[in-house]
Amino acid sequence: ITILGIESSCDDTSAAVIRDGVILSNVVASQKVHEEYGGVVPELASRAHQQNIIPVVELAIKRSGIDRSEVSAVAFTRGPGLLGSLLVGTSFAKGFSLAMNVPLIEVNHLQGHVLALFIKENGMEFNPPKFPFLCLLVSGGNSQIILVRDYLDMEVIGQTIDDAAGEAFDKCAKVMGLPYPGGPHVDKLAKEGNPLRFEFSRPRIPGLDYSFSGLKTNFLYFLRDELKKNEHFVEENKADLCASLQYTIIEILLGKLKKAAKETGVREITVAGGVSANSGLRSALVENAKKHRWNLIIPKFEYTMDNAAMIAITGYYKFLKQEFVGQNTVPFARTQL
Ligand code: ATP
Ligand code: FE
Repeated sequence: ITILGIESSCDDTSAAVIRDGVILSNVVASQKVHEEYGGVVPELASRAHQQNIIPVVELAIKRSGIDRSEVSAVAFTRGPGLLGSLLVGTSFAKGFSLAMNVPLIEVNHLQGHVLALFIKENGMEFNPPKFPFLCLLVSGGNSQIILVRDYLDMEVIGQTIDDAAGEAFDKCAKVMGLPYPGGPHVDKLAKEGNPLRFEFSRPRIPGLDYSFSGLKTNFLYFLRDELKKNEHFVEENKADLCASLQYTIIEILLGKLKKAAKETGVREITVAGGVSANSGLRSALVENAKKHRWNLIIPKFEYTMDNAAMIAITGYYKFLKQEFVGQNTVPFARTQL
């Protein structure tokens, strides 16, 4: 079974080919146009997708070494994401499905982030989590704890009531004058800084839900007040600010994850989404895994950020269940798992 996956939910145009769960190619074209605006501009994103989609798919097929006639089905991201961006991938997938006479499979982007853990690579060790497992999904738009019972059976047991963890990284980075997206820059600078130098507010939210908007506001006001006293405050303290911010975000994330593991009795723990690339989060997870005897599985960097391989692998599992959709399918900006 050969699946062509298409991802266009935000600012990356991506196409991938997966055969029987094994990755053959994964092409990601990141859009540079947004950098100067300090965030993704939806109108520019859909335009860039429109320009990129054909060459990206052609390249993915070429690199996979297959002929397009060998594709069994085309899987695309239906949502969540930016509507104009999603429309490009959806329309392309529909066209491909019609032209090649193959079934169409819709994929939830978040489910894709989770199932990225099941991408096999030729000649590489394959170490997927065992069901049931908990997945801490931390990305630019989401922060969730998901109880995964099977490939296509997932339940969100905790999620952010406002901002996502990635948003907290990016927005705080922006006020420090770091380039967009700020998460990786904070990560890098944090390595040189003291995580205990500054203390920022932590939410008191019941249950397994998250909140990051209070921390963001607290960070913003703190900088504003300090800058009044010393206009070089940010430059002089950048590493410590980044380290302390990152430390707080990780403490918040781990707090609820530990609670979820305890409440569900599940010790198989995984992480997904762009923020899982964060080195501080990775070491905190490793530390906690030792302490609480978790079996921790951390995905490879290249499949944590948005990519079509995760869409193709989800498409593969949906293909096995013959979960196809018709040409009347439409994308959704907001969708639950
Ligand atoms: P969603 O999947 O929720 O729709 P998204 O697809 O935009 O959102 P991803 O591509 O999964 O999100 O992740 C992007 C986010 O990951 C950005 O907020 C970015 O700053 C963050 N990020 C990437 N690398 C790191 C890092 N090393 N440390 C912290 N954050 C990081
Ligand atoms: Fe994503």
